[in-house]
Amino acid sequence: MLTVNDLSVNYGVINAVKKVSFEIDEGEIVSLIGSNGAGKTTILKTISGLLRPKNGEITYLGTNIKRHGAPRIVAEGISQVPEGRHIFPGMSVKENLQMGAFLIKNKAKIKANLDEIFERFPILKDRINQDAATLSGGEQQMLAMARALMAKPKLILLDEPSMGLSPIFINEIFDIIQKINQQGTTVLLIEQNAKKALSISDRAYVLASGEVKMTGSGKELLANVEVQKAYLGG
Ligand code: ATP
Repeated sequence: MLTVNDLSVNYGVINAVKKVSFEIDEGEIVSLIGSNGAGKTTILKTISGLLRPKNGEITYLGTNIKRHGAPRIVAEGISQVPEGRHIFPGMSVKENLQMGAFLIKNKAKIKANLDEIFERFPILKDRINQDAATLSGGEQQMLAMARALMAKPKLILLDEPSMGLSPIFINEIFDIIQKINQQGTTVLLIEQNAKKALSISDRAYVLASGEVKMTGSGKELLANVEVQKAYLGG
């Protein structure tokens, strides 16, 4: 579904991503793990069209999308949930969700998507008219994911969805990611919580200093001694 080939991304003179290659098949959950500064967020932002690569190709459903720009990439079926959620404060839960469907012009379709979201995230229905800024961290993460799903993506990019959440919410967020996937959305996941990420991933790539250092199935990497030492707390 998505092939990233020899991708390099710079910030000025800083070479944040160096000749990274990986692929995601339709229906998979694929994770990128690695410590702070490894280049994970940069890769995600480049796929979504927020950053321009220096070199390399990003092929999505057979088309090179590296110059398509963010709105077109959303329209083509890739939605990103940014690190830190970036929900719209001062807007209600419902308004935040409607923003996620900004490219859909058909009102009946937006309503149908909203109904589907409320079925999947009943807590958001309970909070429908509440200012999004007053939601708890876990609820804000759900809202950010639900907002991305309003665009009906084929591929969802999740940047650190468990960051700053309590263990109960972390479990809930990972359950939701699996459900989203089971219902047909392919997932690219970035996580500091490598253990959790690997446990739900079909495959994963380990990044360090902007490079892919290792790859394997979630199970293989969970059992790998080097990965355990570096990313799974021993
Ligand atoms: P984290 O989990 O901390 O977000 P990451 O793996 O997502 O880490 P990136 O955020 O992609 O890593 O950062 C990769 C490298 O690029 C780091 O060295 C970082 O300092 C640098 N970097 C990121 N954003 C910028 C920027 N806007 N300007 C300059 N350098 C940047």
